Amino acid sequence: MYDPKPGDRLSSLDTPSMIVDLDIMEENIRKLFLLLQPTGVSIRPHLKTTKSPILAKKLIAAGAKGGCVAKLSEAEVMCAEGVDDILITCEIVGPAKVPRLVELFRKYPKIQTVVDSKEGASAIDAALKASGIETPIQVLIDLDVGLHRTGVAPEAALPLAQHIAKLGHLKLIGVQGYEGHLQHVHSREQREKECRASMVILSATATLLREEGFDIQVVTTGGTGTAEFCATVPGITEVQPGSFIFMDSDYRNAVGTYFSHSLTILSTVISKSGTERRVTIDAGLKSLTTDSGNAEPKDMPGVVYTPMGDEHGWLTWGVELEDFPLGARVEMIPSHIDPTVNLHDFYYAHRKGVIEEIWPVATRGKVQ
Ligand code: PLP
Ligand code: MN
Repeated sequence: MYDPKPGDRLSSLDTPSMIVDLDIMEENIRKLFLLLQPTGVSIRPHLKTTKSPILAKKLIAAGAKGGCVAKLSEAEVMCAEGVDDILITCEIVGPAKVPRLVELFRKYPKIQTVVDSKEGASAIDAALKASGIETPIQVLIDLDVGLHRTGVAPEAALPLAQHIAKLGHLKLIGVQGYEGHLQHVHSREQREKECRASMVILSATATLLREEGFDIQVVTTGGTGTAEFCATVPGITEVQPGSFIFMDSDYRNAVGTYFSHSLTILSTVISKSGTERRVTIDAGLKSLTTDSGNAEPKDMPGVVYTPMGDEHGWLTWGVELEDFPLGARVEMIPSHIDPTVNLHDFYYAHRKGVIEEIWPVATRGKVQ
């Protein structure tokens, strides 16, 4: 069986395969730091995009302050691979998870997590107390700045902080307020305006908590669509962009081309049995997600991709175009990068068509 290795050409890969253009990815990283570093905020990239400790280390080498993960099981993998300055951005709730958090914290004391309820905070505190661990875990209050997904309302932040202060095993270090509903607003003007309004809520809440005597060191927020605005708001200390490293068509339509598509799904034309101006490729729903629209063939204006079930997709075109030969390779640009990466086992990272590195998608499927 063919086993891809560095030095091989992309043309030898089986398909569908997830490929990364290293020159473009490295340029995306460089541009993110160019954009944000002068503002002085910390950059804690969200690793829900790459799902890879190897890529997390590349980001840290470029200047990132650790990383974010969404879930506890992602944090477990990252820590075990040596990436232990991690903020878990989702609430950890319930007896199946809280003891696991405690065990992770025992080994990796830099772990931070968020809380948005007194009940949730108390449960973590009780588990830590029972564990005998003496040092408190660092927590941030998750604040709802308009996304309405998780997070306390601004007026509930102070009572929650006061509750946390009474617990012995939680140390309140900051506030998180993620404005995910604004990331893909197409008008830059509107995105910036609404983002700044959300940031006023976040930074005012941090100020209020400080005035009440809480030591709020971290105020964290922002994604690929908004980080540049968040980073210039006084009081914001940290941003969490993720998708910028690979990009996707949905983000490109919203935020433009400052970052470029570095990741594509390499596919093959496997059938030409249909009508004229239509071929079938071997990439369907199991290779490319559709929640944010359909993927796009790279550098093929006028060619449209339509998923045709789990394993197939059509390419159709209405313009005069040279036909695709059977076996032709087509690179597909994902419409939503994070869940698309979650469909693949490996990244094949190449420079000018020669594979340089192969990275496992180490937190693939780590949804718990
Ligand atoms: N922060 C949080 C809490 C998120 O949920 C996300 C993505 O959903 C991000 C940051 C990163 O956003 P993006 O990948 O859009 O840059
Ligand atoms: Mn996403």
